[in-house]
Order: sequence, then structure tokens, then C-alpha cells
Amino acid sequence: MTRRRHLKGGGRYRNPQAWIDHIIATDPALRNVRLTYPPRYSGRLKDYGQARLAIPTRPGYTAIGRASLISRRELLDTIIHEELHHRLERRAQARSLRAWRKTADPVQEEAYVEFIVYRFLRFQNKQHAPRRHTH
Ligand SMILES: [Zn+2]
Repeated sequence: MTRRRHLKGGGRYRNPQAWIDHIIATDPALRNVRLTYPPRYSGRLKDYGQARLAIPTRPGYTAIGRASLISRRELLDTIIHEELHHRLERRAQARSLRAWRKTADPVQEEAYVEFIVYRFLRFQNKQHAPRRHTH
């Protein structure tokens, strides 16, 4: 890691929540995405992120782990990933059989979520890539 990169990354490690809020407010990839819960930084979380579903005795939440702070791309990936878990669960609770089948098998749910995130970010990159073939 170069010194410059290290310094540049310093702010987000000093104040992760401010950086997360900034990305959510400004990144074009999230412009049309309404998040179920505002992602909160959790210094104790070992995973990249965690989607905790609402239960009658406790509201749900989205937690962001330190591992996601490594880059904007990684953070976006995690935010969208956890949001998809929330949406899938909501559809399953609304008795969507397809969604229910996916959430019934954690391995299948994870594979599905990862595929959708991949597709979403690839589409975003295309939309915001510079146009190379203008004549
Ligand atoms: Zn997941």
C-alpha cells in the first residue's frame, strides 16, 4: 500500500459512519435505490455486512463491518448485498413462493444475492463508464 493511498483511506477508518453516509448520499449507483434501513457501521462485526430481519420484538437493521471500508466498490457491494437480503425476506414473508424457496436454503439465497449484486454493479459501471466511441 502506498503512503498516499494510506493517507487517503485514513478518514474513513477514523469516522466510518460519516464515510458510509457520504457514499450513500452521493454515489450514482445508489441514486435510485431506497434502502430498507440506513446502514450502520459496526466495529465488532467480523463479516463485511449483516442484514438483520425484523421480528415482532425487534426492528431490523443493516450493519456494515470494517472489512467493507477497504474501498468504495466494496462498500457499495456490501450495502446492495444486505439490501437484497432484506428485500428477498420481505417477498418471502409476503408469500412469494419463489422468494420463499430461496430463503429456505441459505446457500441458494447467498448465491442468488451475489449474482444480483454482480449484475447490478456491472450495469452501473456500464452506465457511468466514459463513452469511448463517440464520433
Ligand atoms: Zn449474504
